[in-house]
Amino acid sequence: MTRDTDDIDRVGVVGAGTMGSGIAQVAATAEYDVVMRDIESEYVESGFETISDSLGRLVGRDELTEDEAEAAEARIEGTTDLEDLADCDIVIEAALEDIDVKRDIFSDLDDVVAPEAVLATNTSTLSITTIAAATERPGSVVGLHFMNPVPVMKGVEVVRGEKTHADVLGVAHDFAEDLGKETWESDDKPGFVTNRILMPWINEGIRAYDEGVATKEDIDSGMTLGTNVPMGPLQLADHIGLDICLHATETLHEELGDRYTPAYLLKRKVEAGDLGKKTGEGFYEYD
Ligand code: NAD
Repeated sequence: MTRDTDDIDRVGVVGAGTMGSGIAQVAATAEYDVVMRDIESEYVESGFETISDSLGRLVGRDELTEDEAEAAEARIEGTTDLEDLADCDIVIEAALEDIDVKRDIFSDLDDVVAPEAVLATNTSTLSITTIAAATERPGSVVGLHFMNPVPVMKGVEVVRGEKTHADVLGVAHDFAEDLGKETWESDDKPGFVTNRILMPWINEGIRAYDEGVATKEDIDSGMTLGTNVPMGPLQLADHIGLDICLHATETLHEELGDRYTPAYLLKRKVEAGDLGKKTGEGFYEYD
């Protein structure tokens, strides 16, 4: 069976959180019909609120007309019922970063979604091959790693599992490009390209701060001014969420060994509940 992006009309999204709502939004803006599924209707509603706010900002910046924003929102159907994804040509899973949760979802999708559909996961660090093995169609499973915030970030990492078919990889690249994104490809190795390199960079920034190399402001200034990145490691850690950074680093540590040992201060901050922007305090304070 060969697959083509022209065969994609209906897009399923599993999870209506930060990433799922963003993926649903960009797919709907690119004129796909979208079904967005979460486990509770309040989470689906909250996903719609995020989408509505984000579309409103795009209208405010003249990047979309009001009619286009309304039409995009109208193309998204919310549901708590996985069976509503049955007619989707591609499903992108963006639920919790937990291998058991993802394997359960893929096993359920395997029962519900048509055999020719592509099943993609937005995982940041987990193995595509392990997730694919929960299905009877591992060749149809691929990593489609969007970046946060999805409507703003240009890049999407396509990840090739052990059994991913070449035509499925082709669909993943073409589909992401059709959403206005640019792609690159990684083999299914822990952290892929982005998090394998980004997480130790953040971790080392935290260690440098903890070991008194410089103030937190100077560590961030040193990296932004000295290496031309838009945010320093401590600012970026706060933006991503310190719990997410710790979890990703622990997965990399487990798979790749001691060079990924999480910084002591990262663990202490997470234990203290200071998770960054979302809790109002991480390495910096937020209103
Ligand atoms: P989130 O916590 O904002 O959203 C996850 C959503 O999934 C929640 O609404 C939750 O209710 C829902 N969910 C849980 N189990 C479900 C199920 N069985 N079926 C349907 N929905 C279910 O998380 P997020 O930040 O959107 O992350 C989602 C995925 O994207 C994770 O795998 C994460 O690693 C990855 N990711 C996150 C970022 C980021 O910066 N946040 C960036 C790239 C990739």
